[in-house]
Amino acid sequence: MGTDFEELEMIADFYNTHDRRMRFENDPGVEHLNRPEDLKRWLERYHLISKEDEVNDQDLNIAIQLRNETRKMIVNNVFDGQGDAADTLKELNELLNSFNFTFRFTGEHEELLPLQRGGRKGLGHLLVLIFELRRQKMWNRIRVCSAADCQWVFVDRSRPGTGKWCTMKACGNRAKNKAYRERKKTEGHSC
Ligand SMILES: [Zn+2]
Repeated sequence: MGTDFEELEMIADFYNTHDRRMRFENDPGVEHLNRPEDLKRWLERYHLISKEDEVNDQDLNIAIQLRNETRKMIVNNVFDGQGDAADTLKELNELLNSFNFTFRFTGEHEELLPLQRGGRKGLGHLLVLIFELRRQKMWNRIRVCSAADCQWVFVDRSRPGTGKWCTMKACGNRAKNKAYRERKKTEGHSC
């Protein structure tokens, strides 16, 4: 259980491979997964695949879809159209059909394992992790920053686990100041 937070950090980093923080108006953010090699490097960094594993265009395509669809499951995500939850899960669950899993009993515990090789194996490991974190009721600690111009995905280690901002210093204060200014403005209007 001690490594749960590390696993959560890895998942947050997966979402942040599309960095949505805006540096100027209408900034689309930065996409870090542009080529199969980018995905390979990311999966290798977290030991989800080994050097010998090959990652192709299809894996990249599935990774991006997986990132978009599972991101909608982040509990405080209001940016990705949670509107129709059933539809959200339908697309994700259809995507899961491109994966094959099995499970193994070991001495102490059971393991869910991806059956495929290459990039798909790495993404399969990632999915198993998401599955496990949800089962362990740890998933809610993956949060998205409530600032629309940030949307950085972070891990909330606080006891209540209901954080709204990636950092209180930057985004939290910015939101507070904005609320203050807006309150001032409406107060002004009412006079
Ligand atoms: Zn933020």
